[in-house]
Amino acid sequence: MSSLPIIKGQRFHNLDYFRRRSGENYRLLPMRFIALDDTRYVVTNFAGELIVLLRETMQQLVRHELDTASPIYEELLARHFVLDDDSDVALGLLAIKYRTKQSLLANFTALFMFVVSLRCDHSCPYCQVSRQSADRHAYDMKPEVVARAIDFMFRSPSPTIKVEFQGGESLLNFGLIEQIVAEVNARNVVENREIQFVIATNLAPLTDEILTFCREHHIFLSTSLDGPKSLHNANRPRPGGDSHELVEHGIQRAREVLGHDQISALMTTTAESLSQPRAIVDEYVRLGFTSIFLRPLSPYGFAVKTGAVGRYTVDQWLDFYRETLGYIIELNTQGVPIREEYTALLLRKMLTPYPTGYVDLQSPAGIGIAGIVFNYDGDIYASDEARMLAETGDRRFRLGNLINDSYEDVILSDTLLDTLSQTMTEGVPMCVDCGFQPYCGSDPVYHHATQNDAVGFKPLSDFCRRNMEVMRQIIRLLEDDPQSAEILNTWL
Ligand code: SF4
Repeated sequence: MSSLPIIKGQRFHNLDYFRRRSGENYRLLPMRFIALDDTRYVVTNFAGELIVLLRETMQQLVRHELDTASPIYEELLARHFVLDDDSDVALGLLAIKYRTKQSLLANFTALFMFVVSLRCDHSCPYCQVSRQSADRHAYDMKPEVVARAIDFMFRSPSPTIKVEFQGGESLLNFGLIEQIVAEVNARNVVENREIQFVIATNLAPLTDEILTFCREHHIFLSTSLDGPKSLHNANRPRPGGDSHELVEHGIQRAREVLGHDQISALMTTTAESLSQPRAIVDEYVRLGFTSIFLRPLSPYGFAVKTGAVGRYTVDQWLDFYRETLGYIIELNTQGVPIREEYTALLLRKMLTPYPTGYVDLQSPAGIGIAGIVFNYDGDIYASDEARMLAETGDRRFRLGNLINDSYEDVILSDTLLDTLSQTMTEGVPMCVDCGFQPYCGSDPVYHHATQNDAVGFKPLSDFCRRNMEVMRQIIRLLEDDPQSAEILNTWL
C-alpha cells in the first residue's frame, strides 16, 4: 500500500496517491464484500457479478499483490473486479451489464392490483387484509373507481401490463372482474400493450361459468395452498371446514379447463408449518405443482391483530427454509421436478445478467414503480403491503385517491418520491457496504411497520437477516455441494 500521508487539514489523499495506484499492475473496480464463513468472502460488483475468495486472496487483491498470471486474476478480470492496461473494453461491458440489470426501471409500473372486494368467505387468522364478511357489499369496488383505475393504469409507459384481481376473495365480486376485463381489452385495441390477467383466489367460489370466462380471456389463476389437509384447514378456516377440499377440487377443475400451467399456488408459513417441511412439499408434489414459494408471515394488517405474527422468529423460519430447500433438492435428485421460487429468484439475480420484477428485491424499492394497488374505495397504495398496513389505520404509504388525484399527483407525490430516494440500497447505511447488495432490495413498508422508519436499521432488521442468510445458504450450496449446484442451475 502507498505510504503517502494525508496532509494535515486535507480530507482526502492528494492526487499523487491515486496516480500511484493507477500506475500499479492492476486497478480495482468498485466492489463490495461480505463474509461467507470464517475463511471466505462473497465479493460482488455493482453489475451483480459474484466471486467467492479465500480471506488471503481477498487481502492480496486489495493490496495489489495478486499474481497477474494466476487463474484467479484472470477470473477477476473477466468478471470486472479489476482493470489493467490490456482490458480497455471492461468498463463499457460493465456499463452494459449494469444497464441490463436496471432495464425494468425504464418500463415503469407493470403490475396493477385491483382490490375488487374486501369480502371473504374464509377467516384466516394470518390474513393480512381486514377482510369483511361475505354479505357486506359496501366493501366492493365501485364502477366510477374502475373507470379511473383503468385510465390511471394506461398512463404507465410499460409495454407489458399485468392486471391482478385481489381481495378479500376476489371471485365474490366476479361480475366486476368480467367488467374490468372487457373494459381493459376494449381500451387496449388502441393502447396495444401486452396484457396479462391474474385472479388471486382461494378457489372456493369457483364455478364452470367462471372457468369458461377465464379460458376465453386467457386468465391465470393464483391460489393459496398451505400444505396437507390438516395444516391447510387449520390455517384457513371457513364455514364447513372444507377449504382444502375446495382448493384441491378447484385446482383440478382449473387444469382441466385452462391447462395444467394456468394455475399456481402460494403458501404462507405459520408456526404450525415449521415442523412439517416435508409434508408441505409432498402436498405440492402430490397436487402436480413444480414450484413452491416459502413465504414467511408479514407483520401487517389482520395478522397483527390476531397475534399470528410473532409466533416464530426469523431464525426459526431460516431453519425451516434450509430444511425445506434441502428436501426439495433431494427430491430433484430422485427425478421429482420441483423448485423453490424465492431461491430461483435470487439465483436469477446472482447467475444471469437479467433483472427480476420481484417487488421486494428492488433498488430503489419496487413500491409504486414495480407495482401499484387500487383499493376497493379508490385509494391508491404503493404496494399490497401498504394497503394491508392501512387496513389497521396506518396510511403512511397511501399515495392518493383515484377520484380526487391525477396520475401526476400520485406518481410525483412526496410520499412516493421521498420513499424511493431513501430506498436505493446503493446508498443506504449498511447496504452500501454489503456484498449482497446487488441481489437484495428495500422494503420500506416492512421497515416502517417494524421500526417506524422506512429505511430501517439493518442490524436489527429481520428482513436483512433473512435475506443475508438465505443468500449465504444458496452460495454455500453453489460452492460446496456440486450435486446441489447442478440442480440449482436447472432452476434458472
Ligand atoms: S438489507 Fe441487509 S442483506 Fe440486504 S443489502 Fe442491506 S445489509 Fe445487505
